[in-house]
Amino acid sequence: MKTVRELIRPAELCALCGRRIDGPGRFGLCSRCVTELTDSPGPFIVPIPVPDDTNQDLLRCLAVTEYGGLPKRLIQAMKIRGHYRLAQFCVEVWLQPSFHRIVTQSDPKPDLIVPIPASPGGRRRRGFDQSIRMARQLPVPTANLLTRRTGRQQKSLTRRDRAANAERRYAYRRLGSTNGLPGTEVVLLDDVLTTGASLGRCAALLRSAGFSCSRAIVCVVKR
Ligand SMILES: [Zn+2]
Repeated sequence: MKTVRELIRPAELCALCGRRIDGPGRFGLCSRCVTELTDSPGPFIVPIPVPDDTNQDLLRCLAVTEYGGLPKRLIQAMKIRGHYRLAQFCVEVWLQPSFHRIVTQSDPKPDLIVPIPASPGGRRRRGFDQSIRMARQLPVPTANLLTRRTGRQQKSLTRRDRAANAERRYAYRRLGSTNGLPGTEVVLLDDVLTTGASLGRCAALLRSAGFSCSRAIVCVVKR
């Protein structure tokens, strides 16, 4: 026998596996998918070269888990189908605990989070910029200090071409009060880490503007 509530509002189905969601289903996911995503292997620390850095100071990137299986389907559903509630899952279940780990287990403490902007086309298609949305919910101020032009999709390029493409595509944008004060410690945030060309380029831009940028955090790493 259906309850009145169920008659008015049909049962919601999980955005990833299509099973019926029992319980609150806050992120549009069933409890089995939430458990599998929460238990995905990780985190991983991936060192990323920063172009033109004479000291060869690598960017240390914390990736919460790997891009494969259910995490891959979650990222695709968020980016391609524009399921914004999945961005909320990424923040609350994946990024907030990992960011807390960065803050408590390493020095210096971050002052600012700078999201890597999504492509203008992707942002238009899904109606939100997932990195900006996620960055705003971490417990450190966010500044959108980077801009991104429309360019070739990184995924269609070779590793070498990606670096050149990233160099053309991103630019530093100075905001009123947030110029690169010496000692301002920035953490970069992105959703997916592939070759690291975009993160490396963006770290180089921020370092040239005077910021200290030695760490990044992403949801998933492609291996
Ligand atoms: Zn599911």
